[in-house]
This record gives sequence, C-alpha cells and structure tokens, in this order.
Amino acid sequence: MEHIKLKKSGVEDSNADTVVNINLDRALCRIAHIHKGIVEVLRYPKRAVTVTFPIEMDDSSVQVFKGYRVLHNNTLGPGKGGIRFHVDVDLDEVSSLATLMTWKCALIGVPFGGAKGGVICDPKELSHHELRRITRRFISELGENIGPYIDIPSPDLYTNEQTMSWVFDTYDVMHSGNNNRAVVTGKPVSLGGSVGRREATGRGVCYAARHFITKHMVPGLSSLDGARVAIQGFGNVGAVVAEQMHCMGAKIIALSDSQGGIIDNEGLDLAEVSAYKHEHGSLIGLPGTMSATNDALLEIDCDVLVPAALSRQIGAHNAQDVKAKLVVEAANAPVTPEGDRILASKGIQVLPDILANAGGVTVSYFEWLQNLENQQWELDEVNEKLLKKMNKAVDASVERLKQLTTEESEHSRDDFAYPLDLRTAGLAIALDKLVAVTEQRGIWP
Ligand code: NAD
Repeated sequence: MEHIKLKKSGVEDSNADTVVNINLDRALCRIAHIHKGIVEVLRYPKRAVTVTFPIEMDDSSVQVFKGYRVLHNNTLGPGKGGIRFHVDVDLDEVSSLATLMTWKCALIGVPFGGAKGGVICDPKELSHHELRRITRRFISELGENIGPYIDIPSPDLYTNEQTMSWVFDTYDVMHSGNNNRAVVTGKPVSLGGSVGRREATGRGVCYAARHFITKHMVPGLSSLDGARVAIQGFGNVGAVVAEQMHCMGAKIIALSDSQGGIIDNEGLDLAEVSAYKHEHGSLIGLPGTMSATNDALLEIDCDVLVPAALSRQIGAHNAQDVKAKLVVEAANAPVTPEGDRILASKGIQVLPDILANAGGVTVSYFEWLQNLENQQWELDEVNEKLLKKMNKAVDASVERLKQLTTEESEHSRDDFAYPLDLRTAGLAIALDKLVAVTEQRGIWP
C-alpha cells in the first residue's frame, strides 16, 4: 500500500487556502491507490470570478464594492454554496469555502458541486436599500455564472431570506419567461423556499451531534440530554442550535455574538436571551448572566462546544485551553489543523463542518427539487429526510474512521503528522466518490 507522507507544518495555519490543502493531504496520505492526477484537479477551483461595481449610497455618494463567486467543482452537479457579506471576505477564503462545499455535498450525498461567494462590505453599516442595491448589482455582474443548473447561491454570514429574495428577483428579471425559482435557495416560503430551510443547518448540527454521541465515542458523554453546551455565535445557525439542543434536553450554559458572550451555569432562558438580543442588539448585559469575552467562551468548562460563527477560532493559540468533551463545527472551518492536532492529543472529539453543518445544503437540495417541480413539501417530510441523510453520513464517517484506523495500525505512527479523525474519514469518503465519478465521466476531451 502506498501512502503519501505529510510533514508537520510546524507553523500556525492561518491561511484559509493552506488549511484546506493541509486537510486534503491529511486524507490523501491515508487513502491507498487513489488517482493522484485527478486529486490534483480537486485541489484548484474550476472558476473564480471577481467583480467590482459602483453603488449609489443613501447620501448620494458613490462607493465601489468588490465581490467574488468561486465554482470549485461541478463533477457531481451544479455548484452550490452561500453568499456572505463581510468586511473580511477575500478570494482565498471564498475559494477554500467553495472547496469545503465540494467535500460536503459529496459526503452528505446531494448532486451538487462546491461554490461560494461574497461581497466585501460591512452589512451593519449599510441600510436596507443599500444592501438591496449591492445584492442586485452583484448578481447582475455575475451574469451567466449562476443559474439553476450552473451554480445556485444560498444564505451565509450576514445574508438571509431577504437577500435571497433579491437574488431571485434580479435573476428572474434577467431571465423572464422561465421558472427561475431554483436559481437560489434559502428563499422565504412564500417565494418558493422550503419549510424548514431556515432552521436546517442548526437542526442538522443537532441531529448529527445526537447520533454521534450515541456511538459512545466521546468519553464521559453518552447523550445530549443533560449535556452542558456552549455556543459561539447567535445568528441563523447558532440560535437554532441553541433552541434544538435545548429541546433535546441539553443545558445551554453559554452563548456569544460578535460583541461578546454570556454565561449562566444553571442554563440560559432562551426566550429571554432572544428578547434581550432583539431589544438591545447584543447579548451582553442580560440580567442574571455573567459576561465573557469571545475567547473565554471557547475555553469554558462544558460538555459540547459549538463554534457557529467564524473560521479559524480554535487553533494553536487556544486549543490547549478547550475543556469541552466534543467540539461540533456548526461554522465552516472553525478548527484549524493545528487545533485538530491539539484537541486530539487531549482526547477531544471534533465533529467536522463537512458533516456537522451539511443540513443546510441538504435542505437547499430539497428546496431546489421542490422548485423544479413547483411542489411544497410538509415540514415533517423535510425533517424526516434531513434526519436520514445526517444519520447516514455520521454512520458512514464512523465506519470509514474504523476502517482507516485498522489500516493505520499497520503503519508507524511517525508516517502521519496529523491524527486520524472524523474530518479525515469524511474527506476520504468524499474523495473516493469524486475521483470515481470523475473517472467514470472521463477527462475532457
Ligand atoms: P449569521 O450572520 O446569521 O450569524 C453569525 C453570528 O456570528 C452572529 O450572531 C454574529 O454576531 C456572530 N459573530 C460574528 N463575529 C463573531 C465573533 N468574533 N465571535 C462570536 N460571534 C461572532 O450567520 P450564520 O448563517 O449563522 O452562519 C454562521 C456560520 O455557519 C458561518 O461560518 C457559516 O459559513 C456557517 N454555515 C451557515 C449555513 C447556513 O445555512 N446559514 C450553512 C452551513 C454553514
């Protein structure tokens, strides 16, 4: 059996592109007989579009914005991935998030490739009308690079159902006379959105965590019922994770948003938290809670830690101080490879993003199917199908991990710089599928 040796990087992996490549190599060095040339195809995005456009602001001034849309791979189907509005958006990060979408779609089993997009802007400083103009102009600048069978956007950081409505409307105006609903997912239900899509990522995170915990692979934790949970981020994903985990019997002891965190070891009252956040725009100061910095929240003594905000939150700088038994990656790429290595050395399991947060793209796929047929499924049907997909992917990843563990026992531990974990196992499943389908289709011409 031939294995690629992966050397220790020895430096903190702060670059998004580097992180994706390190993780790819971690899986590659453990998969025997894989077609290396085809894997090299998967290392690079198929297409990266950069657009710059002017926007007339509310005060009549003109500002120029820059946006990106990257299609990483479309071997399994059209591109699929979110659009984010954030000051830190850059091409490297968008490319790496598009790559993650390729692995995620292949692992969870939806017929899409990976894509991602974003506009560099500070949505908190922009009015509703400015956001609408930015969205419309961005989509019109992307032109034929998006489409129901080409590349299908969805919500991500600081974009939501309203943003997706503008995406749809812009595309529809540009392609009148067709059923264009399938061009974008995460729309409001009244505009062809799927019931359950808004909650799907968070709900999927909880389904995956609950199922994984029952496999007795997390020392000292056998159920979500009674588990003490800390969540970084209280947006679309984090708020739903809090609510769903609470329904599953967990105690939410800490939450945070961009301004900081709150702690109540007796368990936070989520209705009070939401009402306070709605009124004050921040969690800090909720009566009866202690305040904490975002850094401190990640190091809190809890059973389950759910990073549900930004990338690269747990790495060489703080992984040693994480006290959770299980880290569930609701956000994309919150744990770096160095973070993985340190957490593994402490016996802390990580449920990786490509598995844990795949519920969003799964229900996006359901929404796309409904749109193509002008159907509207019931919530029970959506959730039941989502549950099956999440559980199946967890089962497959755990099985693959066991298989890789058996194979690894035949090698010297020094052969591998990074630990064998669920991320590697999930990526191995995705790579097997992508390489097999690429070979079946054949390299053009
Ligand atoms: P969102 O914009 O609705 O919420 C983001 C949250 O993170 C907000 O509460 C914000 O205050 C908080 N935040 C921002 N900076 C922070 C910081 N430094 N520390 C702590 N909190 C901070 O975004 P979302 O849709 O909930 O996405 C969150 C993450 O989940 C992102 O990584 C996104 O890529 C990932 N994700 C989202 C979906 C989806 O369907 N929305 C699907 C898969 C993955």
